[in-house]
Amino acid sequence: MSTQIPYVYNPIMTYSLISKTLKLSICILFVIPLFRVMAVTENQFRVHGLSAFKGEQVEMLESWLTQGVNATRATLGIYPTPIALHLYPRKSNQPVPWAYTRRDGKGSVHFHVDARFGITKFVNDWTVYHELAHMALPYLGSEYRWFSEGFASFMQYQIMAQADVLKGTLDERYQAKISPHLRWFNSDLTAASIARRLMDNKQYPAAYWGGAYFFVYADQLLIQKHNTTLTELITHYQDCCRTKDNNLADVVASLDGILDDELFSRLLKRYESVPARKLYSENFE
Ligand SMILES: [Zn+2]
Repeated sequence: MSTQIPYVYNPIMTYSLISKTLKLSICILFVIPLFRVMAVTENQFRVHGLSAFKGEQVEMLESWLTQGVNATRATLGIYPTPIALHLYPRKSNQPVPWAYTRRDGKGSVHFHVDARFGITKFVNDWTVYHELAHMALPYLGSEYRWFSEGFASFMQYQIMAQADVLKGTLDERYQAKISPHLRWFNSDLTAASIARRLMDNKQYPAAYWGGAYFFVYADQLLIQKHNTTLTELITHYQDCCRTKDNNLADVVASLDGILDDELFSRLLKRYESVPARKLYSENFE
């Protein structure tokens, strides 16, 4: 059993109006992009696995995922590629005990959920925002897992704040999550090598939130230098660049291209080459 989440934006109208005014020979050139756009918007988020749940639980889970998708869209833009959302029942002491993304073929996100919890507990849980945020960027490889997890960890709170479900302010949340892990970065080793090692050692909170500091830093630079924010930039990135990028070098080049600045390549280079203690303050303010 699968269901679709209604979409909020439809560029097909514009395409049809343009194509109607063109001669057939020219229209043929538009056939492929037109079908691609239709397929993408109509099937952008499809939910699988609902048949494993009871009637009122199905409604609750659909409404949770709809809220999660809409909140993510409001913060990071409309994703240009379709994503399948899979649900699996699991008894736990929390609504979403486990979730992960898969990148083979079309992207998919898999949620193990305990549907005995109510909609409020689901909506206030960070997991759906974190997993959906991952899909704003392509798969970056195991070497840059700290970057990918740092990005999703930073973005989960941006999405929750925008949707008005974040407890406390963004600054308070980042401070509470990042501060306990700053000690790992008080080092002459590079920040990227430390984050990689933390990930390899399965010190996930330290790796994730140490990585999220990259995006706190980038967001501050964007506000100061470009009068924009990281979420605003990622929204533009979905429109121009997401489908053509395949690795971190592509992503960095695209983001710098939008800005007409080397902000991301310079920051990443500093993460790979200067002592971490020069980038990470001892106290997070
Ligand atoms: Zn993650």
